[in-house]
Amino acid sequence: MLETFRESAGLWRIPLPTPTLPPATATNHYLVGERQAVLVDPSAPALANQDKLVALLAAAAQQGVAVTALFLTHHHQDHMGAAAALRARLDLPVWAHARTAALLPELAVDRLVADGETVAVNADGTPWLAVHTPGHAPGHLCLWHAATAMLVAGDMVAGEGTILVDPRDGHMGDYLASLDKMAHLQPRALAPAHGQVLHEALAVLTHYRLHRLAREHKVLEALPLTWTAPDALLPTAYGDVSRLAWPIALRSMQSHLIHLAELGRAERDATRWRRLA
Ligand SMILES: [Zn+2]
Repeated sequence: MLETFRESAGLWRIPLPTPTLPPATATNHYLVGERQAVLVDPSAPALANQDKLVALLAAAAQQGVAVTALFLTHHHQDHMGAAAALRARLDLPVWAHARTAALLPELAVDRLVADGETVAVNADGTPWLAVHTPGHAPGHLCLWHAATAMLVAGDMVAGEGTILVDPRDGHMGDYLASLDKMAHLQPRALAPAHGQVLHEALAVLTHYRLHRLAREHKVLEALPLTWTAPDALLPTAYGDVSRLAWPIALRSMQSHLIHLAELGRAERDATRWRRLA
């Protein structure tokens, strides 16, 4: 039963429908580790799918895979929406980064996980370590297994759809630095929260970085030296993107503008922006 979900040593991917950002329609529930395992991103709202998860975890336990906690990569609903229900049902603690716990006051987080801590352990004793990768969300954690060079990537990259860096809880400068931190690990594959496992991991990370920098360059080029409302920049900076996606693009662009301001290339007043010469 569990075998069909296996991706690599100590890693199973169980995609289940969640209310997520289209075109993605599901979140991968990863079972990570063997001797000591965690269920990553418990989020499926449908009771039938929670039943399926519970059955899979029971099957895993029969194979000697002992799930000790529910682990959150970050605080977004499509990553933690079933945490409270499964916590009660399976009597498992919830683990997350302190910044994630702070954004989820209604959810009891039992262990605060910091960068570098061991979260799970494979049958051969090799650990899965937490890697703090802020940017999409301030408390975002990836899971790194050096022995197989596998990186559970959460919402840092996507196998389906795109990653939104929303200025309300994201930060473009942090996101770019976290992509670099991930590349520095030299992963062989990336296991994202949405879509299939991505091989050619370094090419994917380079593509994500260059894509963001190219977009940021377009935003800077579109920005005049006179005060301008951000939505006026959309036709130039996001002219290649469907108008239907412009409400999302506007948020992403604001993250770029904030990053440009931090780099000393732009400045803002209450609602408008201008390029600095
Ligand atoms: Zn997210």
